[in-house]
Amino acid sequence: MKKLLIVDDSETVLNIFKDALKNAPEIEALYAESYNEAMRIIRLNPDQIHAAILDYNLPDAPKGEVIALANSNNIPTVVLTGSLNKDTRNIILKKNVIDFILKNDPNSIRSALDSANKALKNYDTTVLIADDSKLSRELIKMSLETIHLNIMEATNGQEALDLVLSDEHNISLLITDYEMPEIDGLDLTFTLREKFSKAQLGIIAMSGAEDEETISKFLKLGANDFVHKPPVPNEIITTVNANLELLSLFEQVQELANKDFLTGAYNRRHFFDTGEAIFLKAKRKDLPLSVAMLDIDKFKIINDTYGHDVGDIAIKEVKTILETTLRRSDLFARFGGEEFCILLEGVSLEDVQMLFEKIRTKFEKNTIHTKDTSVSYTVSIGVVYGMADSLEALVNLSDEALYFAKEHGRNQVKINTHTI
Ligand code: GH3
Ligand code: MG
Ligand code: MG
Ligand code: MG
Repeated sequence: MKKLLIVDDSETVLNIFKDALKNAPEIEALYAESYNEAMRIIRLNPDQIHAAILDYNLPDAPKGEVIALANSNNIPTVVLTGSLNKDTRNIILKKNVIDFILKNDPNSIRSALDSANKALKNYDTTVLIADDSKLSRELIKMSLETIHLNIMEATNGQEALDLVLSDEHNISLLITDYEMPEIDGLDLTFTLREKFSKAQLGIIAMSGAEDEETISKFLKLGANDFVHKPPVPNEIITTVNANLELLSLFEQVQELANKDFLTGAYNRRHFFDTGEAIFLKAKRKDLPLSVAMLDIDKFKIINDTYGHDVGDIAIKEVKTILETTLRRSDLFARFGGEEFCILLEGVSLEDVQMLFEKIRTKFEKNTIHTKDTSVSYTVSIGVVYGMADSLEALVNLSDEALYFAKEHGRNQVKINTHTI
């Protein structure tokens, strides 16, 4: 949970923020209407406010004094301002401000929150600095700590490689020197690019200004960007910010491609992409998997009786029930229409039986209340437990079990076992 301080003397503006943050459970917003109130909140939460959105002009601080207050407490700040003249601009430029946003823009609240969110994300983002020079590492580290990134250090290429490859650290961005012991920056980049795409791991190369050729080699081998050596704080921060922003855009595109628009559940494509690795691991270790196909019973009647919109709500409810019943690590996806597929590993046949019976019962007892009506429905679930030649074969077998459940009266779980 991250704390975001929002200071504005307009109650209307604060209310728009409150409304916009209703669906952001990971943010705890603290609201103030004046400089004095902001100061009190900062004192009550020493070292704990992760970002701030501040009104430049407050009745008790008309000249941006609240920005200095946030700066002195090391809080990344987005400034909202009614007008931008030379004076305000100069003050904003002199202070440490991530972004300033004109209030009269209709999207200003959204933009301010987007900027603040980027700042908040930094607290959970890890950057690795690989350089054999301690001084150079320290300089970069100091710059990047002002934007609250988590910094790790490696003194040579091998150490950097081990840190990126380990499951523990989840490194988003690597800043690498060229000449280093064990593995140099070019080899490091080349080796990492065999495993991680530019969208998965950002690589920023460092090189002395006299060595243009090194930079072009780095870029050819897959570095995303470069900075000059010795590092200049502003260049480092700007380059890192730009690259983190790109990585986050890549991530959003990936999310969109892997998720179903209606429910936000994963789609079939993600199911097979992610499921394939789980399948291969289970097969290698000779462990059984469970694949279940779940389908709403007589769904056409819901659509025909209550309309497509209520049908959509019924489909979204499937996602909610699966999400709250399955473990976070379990994989499930919407395969189409009102059909969902679930893949479980490491569960015994007895537990599989219990789990899907529990899910079936949850639907049976559930009623969805919409504005105008109440709807109940049941589901049929077909499960295959064991192993087959491919994940696709397991999915087809679960479909056969589902067909059986439908043929034999619906609202039931049919489990078949299968071995190769
Ligand atoms: P059964 O018990 O045999 O599964 O009967 P059913 O009526 O559920 O039959 P079927 O699975 O063939 O019906 C699926 C229906 O789902 C047909 C289609 O119009 C509807 N559908 C598919 N996608 C959507 C969607 O995104 N929203 C809504 N509301 N309906 C959808
Ligand atoms: Mg070096
Ligand atoms: Mg159906
Ligand atoms: Mg169906």
